[in-house]
Amino acid sequence: MIIPQPRDPNEHRPEPAQGCVACAYLARLRERAHAAGDGSGVSDANVRMRRHQAQEHPT
Ligand SMILES: [Zn+2]
Repeated sequence: MIIPQPRDPNEHRPEPAQGCVACAYLARLRERAHAAGDGSGVSDANVRMRRHQAQEHPT
């Protein structure tokens, strides 16, 4: 089984924002996918969280 290594782990693992339900939901999805060894589920959750944060938590 080949596990692709992300170039920048931080870029691929956005932190959920405090008190945000959507972030908490996506973080839980990611956690569950990770626990199940579902790598594509993990990156899918990361992509969705990054997209959500770009819209809802602009810096
Ligand atoms: Zn959020």
